[in-house]
Amino acid sequence: MIWQWGLIGLLCQKNHCKPRRLSLTSLPRLSLTTERLWVPQADKIWFRPLILNTTNGEWVNLLRIAKGGVMNRHRHPAPVYGYVLKGEWRYLEHDWVAKPGTFVFEPPGEIHTLVVDEEVEEMITLFHVFGALVYYDEDDNLIQHDDVHTKIEM
Ligand code: FE
Repeated sequence: MIWQWGLIGLLCQKNHCKPRRLSLTSLPRLSLTTERLWVPQADKIWFRPLILNTTNGEWVNLLRIAKGGVMNRHRHPAPVYGYVLKGEWRYLEHDWVAKPGTFVFEPPGEIHTLVVDEEVEEMITLFHVFGALVYYDEDDNLIQHDDVHTKIEM
């Protein structure tokens, strides 16, 4: 299903969450440890949607990856901005480590693989994504993609 609402946030009250169209607003302040807000995405990976914008294809979410988790090799057709809130992680393709307070810019077209090492309990990072994640295998064959619509379907 293609969502027709445009800018969508997740409004959560006591025991349930439901999508809500956003205007100038703020979402309730909820703990990062509130388990029901995390949507399973893949093995050891969850996300908490903050904005899912079907009008321009952007989304803002908190990404949480447990130790040993891997966000598979991918690239983006548009920029991605990130800000690390908890834990540490790195890209296999680079030699620096993202830590709390690190601001991350992923330029369009660069292929990277995000990993959380075994000694890190988990990481939580705010990501602002435009467009898509396009996943590739080691031979650069396209495997699958995620975009705002696949995120809504999760
Ligand atoms: Fe990326």
